Amino acid sequence: MEFGFTEEQQQLRRSVREFAEGEIAPHVMEWDEASHFPMEIIPKLAEMGLLGVIFPEEYGGAGLGYVEYALTIEELARVDGSVGLIVAAHNSLCSNHIYKFGTEAQKKKYLVPLASGKAIGAWSLTEPEAGSDAGGTRTTAARCGNQWVLNGAKTFTTNGQYADFCVAMAVTDKSKGSHGISAFILEKGMAGFRPGKKENKLGMRASDTSEV
Ligand SMILES: Cc1cc2nc3c(=O)[nH]c(=O)nc-3n(C[C@H](O)[C@H](O)[C@H](O)COP(=O)(O)OP(=O)(O)OC[C@H]3O[C@@H](n4cnc5c(N)ncnc54)[C@H](O)[C@@H]3O)c2cc1C
Repeated sequence: MEFGFTEEQQQLRRSVREFAEGEIAPHVMEWDEASHFPMEIIPKLAEMGLLGVIFPEEYGGAGLGYVEYALTIEELARVDGSVGLIVAAHNSLCSNHIYKFGTEAQKKKYLVPLASGKAIGAWSLTEPEAGSDAGGTRTTAARCGNQWVLNGAKTFTTNGQYADFCVAMAVTDKSKGSHGISAFILEKGMAGFRPGKKENKLGMRASDTSEV
């Protein structure tokens, strides 16, 4: 049994390391001090397939596995934890939620631009009263004709200020407790969907953590 990395995985690690050391490392302090979200490296991350590592190519992804994904995050975070977090929240939280549980139409509409890096994703679960205990979610969603209307505010959303799409949790059936919470895909430009206060953190400040 072979427990080492394959030649392809080692090559991926070298490429991500070279990119991180060449294009991220020179700016780490500047980005952190200015709380600057490094939008300028998003096209390059997309070109390298790092915004859709684990998704099949038919959905715009790189079609790689979790070992490759872990290597990617490890190499990015080795140089800048903020960039690791931006990429991890985009891939694992937002995009993967749609990949695992979205309809085919939702995957085509949202996952393809996310995985190919044309759109940035966020995922909003946390609220002031719902952290470790997601059952404390207070945001509600109610049917209004053929639409859903969400009411509430989220906190600590990674990529919240820059997200084109956001998967947000809301209570749809209070009587079912923690099983009465559903996920909704929000799009930039939808009425009422907007970023709120951007948190100032102690470290990892190039990663945006915001209210939504
Ligand atoms: C940089 C950053 C990025 C984030 N990005 C996102 C994001 O993209 N989307 C999102 O939805 N959220 C995000 N979060 C929020 C994160 O998921 C929450 O902070 C986390 O769920 C903990 O919730 P909390 O901060 O309310 O702490 P609390 O839930 O209040 O917990 C505080 C402390 O109490 C402990 N604790 C809680 N309950 C128990 C218990 N029953 N028994 C024993 N100990 C307990 C916890 O372990 C912790 O040490 C982010 C947070 C940070 C810091």
